[in-house]
Amino acid sequence: MARSISEIQSFQPVARTLMGPGPSDIYPAVLQALSRPTVGHLDPLFIAMMDEVKQLLQYAFQTDNPFTLAISAPGSAGMEACFVNLVEPGEKVIVCRNGVFGDRMRENVERCGATAVMVDDAWGAPVSPEKVEAALKAHPDASTLAFVHAETSTGACSDAQTLARLAREHGCLTIVDAVTSLGGVPLKVDEWQLDAVYSGSQKCLSCVPGLSPVTFSPRAVAKMQSRTHKVQSWFLDQSLVLGYWSGEGKRSYHHTAPVNSLYALHESLLRLYQEGLEHAWQRHQDMHQHLKAGLDELGITFVVDQPYRLPQLNAVTIPDGVDDAAVRQHLLTTYNLEIGAGLGDLAGKAWRIGLMGYGARHENVALCLKALENALR
Ligand code: PLP
Repeated sequence: MARSISEIQSFQPVARTLMGPGPSDIYPAVLQALSRPTVGHLDPLFIAMMDEVKQLLQYAFQTDNPFTLAISAPGSAGMEACFVNLVEPGEKVIVCRNGVFGDRMRENVERCGATAVMVDDAWGAPVSPEKVEAALKAHPDASTLAFVHAETSTGACSDAQTLARLAREHGCLTIVDAVTSLGGVPLKVDEWQLDAVYSGSQKCLSCVPGLSPVTFSPRAVAKMQSRTHKVQSWFLDQSLVLGYWSGEGKRSYHHTAPVNSLYALHESLLRLYQEGLEHAWQRHQDMHQHLKAGLDELGITFVVDQPYRLPQLNAVTIPDGVDDAAVRQHLLTTYNLEIGAGLGDLAGKAWRIGLMGYGARHENVALCLKALENALR
C-alpha cells in the first residue's frame, strides 16, 4: 500500500550485491563521478569530456569508427537505433533467435516495415553458422544479418566473427547486439568487420543504466546516407545525433544530454582502459571458473555447453524440487544478494548469475556460493 504523499521521504535503498543479468554492481568511483557538479551540455568542458568518452568507447569496441557514441537511452534504444537507421521498408533481414533478445530484433525489423527471416536455435545454444549460411543462400535479396553476440536470457555466446564473415560474403550488413558482451568477452569490431553494434552501460561496464554505446562502420554509414525513406524516429535518427557528438566546432543542440550519467560512463570506460581489455576479459573468465568450481560442489549444472558459456552470465539449472522464487527471496532478504530468474523458455527452470564488470570479483563469487549453499541446505 503506497504511503500518503506527505509521508514520503528521500529514497534510501540498501546496498545490494547485484549478481543478476544487470544492472551490475557499479564501481564506487563511478557513483562518485555521478555526483560531480552538473555543467551545461554545450559547455566546452563537457564537450571535451564527450570527445574523451568517444575515444574510450572506440577502445572498448576496438574500433576506429568515427561514428561511435553513447545514445542517451538504454540498450533497447541502441537496438532500435541500429534497426531504424539501417533497415528500410520492404527490405529483408535475417534475424537469429536463440533467446529473448533475438525476438526483440524481429519485432524491430517488422516495425521498420521490413521482413524478418528467422533463424532459430534452441535456448542455451549459440547461433548456428551453418543455419545462417543456409538462410543467406536461400535469401540472396537479404540486406542485413542481425544477431545477439551474448544472449543474456540464456548465457550463450555466439561466434560473431564467423557470422559477420558469412554476412559479408553474401553482401549483407551486420547488426550486432553487444549489450552483455562489451567489456566481458572479446569483441573486436574492426577486426571482425561488424557494421552496427550496440551495447548498454549497466552490464560489464558497471556504469549506471540508461546509456547505450553504439558504433557504426563506414559501410553502415554509407547505407544510412543512401536511404530513400526518412528515418521514422526523430530522436534516434543518427544523422541528427551525430551533429551533436561530432564536435569540431560545430556541435549543435539535438537533445539535452544526460550530463552526469555521461560523467559516470567516462569514469567506467576509463577504468576499463586502465585495467586493459585483455585483463578484464581474463578476470571475467577467472571468476567464472571460481564460480563453476563452487557450483560443481553444490551439484548445480550449467544450461549452456562449456565452449559457448558466457563468463559474465552464468545460467544454471535449478535443482529438482527447489522453489525458485523462495531461494531468490532468501538470497535477497538474508544476504542482500540479487541473482536473476530465468526468462522466457527458462522461466522457473534456471537462475542467471551475473559476474559483470566490477561484480566479477572474488568477494561476489564467495558470497553467492555461501548464500546458495545456505539456501539449498
Ligand atoms: N539486448 C540484450 C542482450 C540485453 O541483455 C538487454 C538487457 O538486458 C537489452 C538488449 C536491452 O537493454 P536495456 O534493458 O538497457 O534496454
